[in-house]
Amino acid sequence: MDHTHPYDSAHTQKAIGTLLKRFPILKMTSLGQSVLGRDIPLLRIGDPRKPTVLYVATHHGMEWITTEVLLSYVEDFCRLAGTERHVYGIRPSCVAENRCLCIVPQLNPDGADLQIHGIPGNDPVRERLLFYNGGNPDFTRWQANARGVDLNHNYNAGFAAYKRLEREKGIFGGAPTRFSGEYPESEPETAALASYIRRHENIRMILTLHTQGEEIYYSSGDCIPPSSARIAALFGRMTGYRPSRPEGMAAYGGLTDWFIQAFNRPAFTFECGRGQNPLPQNKASDIYEAIREALFTAPLLV
Ligand SMILES: [Zn+2]
Repeated sequence: MDHTHPYDSAHTQKAIGTLLKRFPILKMTSLGQSVLGRDIPLLRIGDPRKPTVLYVATHHGMEWITTEVLLSYVEDFCRLAGTERHVYGIRPSCVAENRCLCIVPQLNPDGADLQIHGIPGNDPVRERLLFYNGGNPDFTRWQANARGVDLNHNYNAGFAAYKRLEREKGIFGGAPTRFSGEYPESEPETAALASYIRRHENIRMILTLHTQGEEIYYSSGDCIPPSSARIAALFGRMTGYRPSRPEGMAAYGGLTDWFIQAFNRPAFTFECGRGQNPLPQNKASDIYEAIREALFTAPLLV
């Protein structure tokens, strides 16, 4: 992987293009389009009729380092799957035959581009984005999509309760972070992903990468799917991250919450790395090394 260019949408597309050329085992389709019409790539390894693990990165603009981490896994997995080698006692070539890996490396391309580049002067939505950002032309703290919706609060899990918390915090509309949108799945990015998940009943587990905190969330409120605590403990030992149950505003409307509540199947939020967002890009390799075993092991647990 290229560790020198930030993973904006263009660089992500380029990196995916290179991986597709190198590894015939890797397939790509489109999950859908972002608010500003950018494509959201969906990568697949294996047969989707097999038990499937879904990996998702970059819900949040400041967290585009997770795209690089997830693409590092794709590269690593594909390279090993072309051999008979073992890693952590697992043979990726065998996993590729018996499981399916679905990967959404960048759910929020608009947010990543805004965080990295700011808004170009001729952008047709410039005024609106500036308004959402409180008039501030500095978008380096931007987490949301291009309508100021925090995608990881836009899923249908505790939405009404979250709305009350949001208003208490003085958030009434589009914002750099934490605005949950008008209604669940109001955004094309979340609608596309939730719809894909509903249509693919073989998805048995979801791993979502965020930054930061070195924690693994595995519950939604009081809801803990069978085996989730055990798997979180296992991932905790593998990564050195702390299995945790989210509290406060973090406990509502996320992909992990929705999947747990809607399907009663295990889902995990990895809060990767430690420091202040956005984490510097040179942390990507360390983060990947820390969570590598968990990423490789997940398909064996479904
Ligand atoms: Zn996040």
